[in-house]
Amino acid sequence: MIKENLNIPQISTGDILREAVKNQTPLGIEAKKFMDAGLLVPDYLIKDLIEERLKQDDSKCGFIFDGFPRTIVQAEVLKEISEKIGFEIDRVINIDVPNELIIKRLSGRRSCSCGAVYHVESKKSGKDGICDLCGGLLYQREDDREEVIRNRLEQYEKQTLPLIEYYEKEGKLRTINGDQSIEDVFNDAIRALKA
Ligand code: AMP
Repeated sequence: MIKENLNIPQISTGDILREAVKNQTPLGIEAKKFMDAGLLVPDYLIKDLIEERLKQDDSKCGFIFDGFPRTIVQAEVLKEISEKIGFEIDRVINIDVPNELIIKRLSGRRSCSCGAVYHVESKKSGKDGICDLCGGLLYQREDDREEVIRNRLEQYEKQTLPLIEYYEKEGKLRTINGDQSIEDVFNDAIRALKA
């Protein structure tokens, strides 16, 4: 919704990694073991991936990073890359959601290989287990199982949480309430990005 509103691409490191896993590229083979365990993929792999992605023409007029940076090292890498290529990060959006709600949302998430995402309670597909958009079979991501989600949350606390202070100091951070309807989260995000 945000990328359509702003008309810029979304660069999701998670999506790029899942595509690499599916295609069994060297990056995918290396990344899979970390992803399945709910651990972060090593920073050097993410650096190469981001540098490669930013070479594409569609990112010349801006982009949204989704799920990146996830560590202070990645934020420093991003600073280096942005200075090299010549762009600046305008805003960093922190979507605040209580852990128990995150577990409920992720464990009920069902995904389609076309990119569509559903939820067993709050966003059901028309036909059980079938994607409304492409007719594909819905599946549960390996890392959306509850025990892996708990590990992901632990990694978040240790490695990603320090980024809040990092971007607060730069004056770029905006925190929005993620415990609302999709529409309200979207409107708050757009407001925070445009302000
Ligand atoms: P996501 O789709 O953003 O939830 O990411 C799924 C998984 O991909 C994460 O749990 C990590 O294993 C890996 N991943 C995605 N983005 C990053 C990143 N920026 N740094 C390290 N690992 C990442």
